[in-house]
Amino acid sequence: MCAVPIGPEHSHLADIQDHRLLCACRACYLLFTDGGASRGHYRVVPESYRYNADFALSPAQWDAMGIPVNLAFLFYQSDQGRYVAFYPSPGGATESLLDLAGWNEVVAGDPLLQGLVPDVEAVLLRRLDDTFECHLVPIDACYELVGIVRQYWEGFAGGEDVWRRIDAFFAGVQERSRG
Ligand SMILES: [Zn+2]
Repeated sequence: MCAVPIGPEHSHLADIQDHRLLCACRACYLLFTDGGASRGHYRVVPESYRYNADFALSPAQWDAMGIPVNLAFLFYQSDQGRYVAFYPSPGGATESLLDLAGWNEVVAGDPLLQGLVPDVEAVLLRRLDDTFECHLVPIDACYELVGIVRQYWEGFAGGEDVWRRIDAFFAGVQERSRG
């Protein structure tokens, strides 16, 4: 965002118009925290993690979203006025182009999801057999997961190394959700 040097742990701002994330120093981050500083062009990526203990999704609803792996993240894209769904793949974040009507029904019945912050907060999902783990996370965390998959995925099924890293990533998310 500016020329101030920042460390490996830093905040992000979302550019709502260009659909990208910008690294931000603390001063820039705080400047945009009130949302009015840029007339909505930039929005701060929140830092809170929330576990959704009451999340209910059926395997059929998952399949209807066209997610071919057991990981996905969804967020509300305000300039399109709708949810978008992505999954990590060896080529990066891949968007599911299927109709998300079923997902909208899930959101309608879930008070926590209705409080999701548009553009900058995401619903992170992991399928474990026929149940689903759900966290509300800063959207930059999803791109951290995308980076793990892109960097370490091997062959058709990914290989042991990438899945060990994915497990460690989710352990970190769970830790933050509890705190
Ligand atoms: Zn700055």
